[in-house]
Amino acid sequence: MTVPAQKPARKLSMKQRYSALTHDLNWTPTYVPEAEAFPYTTFEGIKIHDWSKWEDPFRLTVDAYCKYQAEKDRRLYAVLDSFAQSQGQLGLSDGSYLNAMKLFLQGIASEEYQAHRNFAYLARYLNGPGPRFAALCQSLDELRHAQTEIHALSHYNKHFTGFHDWKKMHDRVWYLSVPKSFFDDAVTAGPFEFLIAIGFSFEYLLTNLLFVPFMSGAAFNGDLPTMTFGFSAQSDESRHMTLGLEAIKFMLEQDEDNVPIVQEWLDKWFWRGYRLLALVAAMMDYFLPKRVMSWKESFELYFEQQMLGGLFPDLAYYGIRPPRHVEQAIEEKEILSHQAFWILYQFSHAAAFQTTVPDAAAQEWLTSAYPETFPKLYQPLFEKAQEVMDGGGRFFNMGLPQLCQVCQIPMGFTEPGDPTTICQRHSIFKGERYDMCSDGCKWIFDREPEKYVQAWLPVHQIYQGNCGGPTIPDVLAWYGMQPDDGGDYLGSADHQAWTAWHATAAKEG
Ligand code: FE
Ligand code: ZN
Repeated sequence: MTVPAQKPARKLSMKQRYSALTHDLNWTPTYVPEAEAFPYTTFEGIKIHDWSKWEDPFRLTVDAYCKYQAEKDRRLYAVLDSFAQSQGQLGLSDGSYLNAMKLFLQGIASEEYQAHRNFAYLARYLNGPGPRFAALCQSLDELRHAQTEIHALSHYNKHFTGFHDWKKMHDRVWYLSVPKSFFDDAVTAGPFEFLIAIGFSFEYLLTNLLFVPFMSGAAFNGDLPTMTFGFSAQSDESRHMTLGLEAIKFMLEQDEDNVPIVQEWLDKWFWRGYRLLALVAAMMDYFLPKRVMSWKESFELYFEQQMLGGLFPDLAYYGIRPPRHVEQAIEEKEILSHQAFWILYQFSHAAAFQTTVPDAAAQEWLTSAYPETFPKLYQPLFEKAQEVMDGGGRFFNMGLPQLCQVCQIPMGFTEPGDPTTICQRHSIFKGERYDMCSDGCKWIFDREPEKYVQAWLPVHQIYQGNCGGPTIPDVLAWYGMQPDDGGDYLGSADHQAWTAWHATAAKEG
């Protein structure tokens, strides 16, 4: 008798296995026409001929996704617990470091939640099952990011100012209208524009400029909770980048008519994202006691080399060119962080973070990072501010600044080629004048004036009496701020507490 040779099991590739596992999970509705089931994917003018061409590049199952995320959460929350139990805040590089994290919690956590909501909408309304599932995963990721950021930073709320009312502040405070209006703009766009705005421009083009400095800044400065959160979000981030790239390529490949539409969105969202990152530039160069790299270096590495040098030559194949106004951003790398910080410095009395004049070592670092611009243009400002401090005062700007109608940043940026003249542009729409900070913001306004005339500009709202009252204390109370939240760091409640804790530790040690 012969034993029949066993038939070898047919090996399926990953891709085949995944499609065998998922192929009948999607169906075509028979009793509703496609246009009724998916009503939002046509009005922007994007033409899609074959949704099945959008493949889910992750080949992730719900089961695997949940197990993986749960494991990361377990690790993160173990770190958070032990940090709290061992009073880890005492090991930070300096108490002033947390001003960067106040800005992060107030400015970013709510945007993660906004992203969660809009990806949930895409998970319902994109026509193809591949993009719907990818959007579903990203929606869950973003919810988790919001939660883990809030939890990671909540420990500091027990010991430091500025962490207490981030959600209320996000809806009301002048500098937080910058990130808020950015996301409001994105979630009120159509689904394809949102994919270019957040999925591509934000997650792909610019995310390294946001995440790397924050996370390595945290590592350099002893902030274990933020660093661990960052690692836990990083694997999600690489999926988000893949989705963004997949989205733009899909649109470009589906129809040639999509190219000019996508190009304009890219032009718009590059500039909007870049303007938002002015806050990150200030954070990197001025808020971190131990600095990682300068804004200029990080812009050169993550944007000029990786994006302009690496990605755009590939996109040229589809007829896509680098974003409009990119030369302006490149030129500004020498001045952006200083101009943004100078705005934050002047208005710190109306903020829920503290700033101070960079000390001698910091000024030396700024000089070596920006030899062409810092000593000549910005050091003199800090010398003057220091003189005021030496006389027992503090320079605060007691006026209300004019805001850009698009990015909502106070008008503090300068003319191309002339870093000593404030840049201002304006447009007339239906007989009214609107002011913008730059050619980039003006171009965005002129494309969709009907949208931007509706902007909720914090300064205008104060003048109209919608922010608690006519005095600074009225407005700050309405913002949800407490008396110790803002001002100069030196002598602040945080600074005093930090000094006292370390004096005790030195005595005991
Ligand atoms: Fe996120
Ligand atoms: Zn602007």
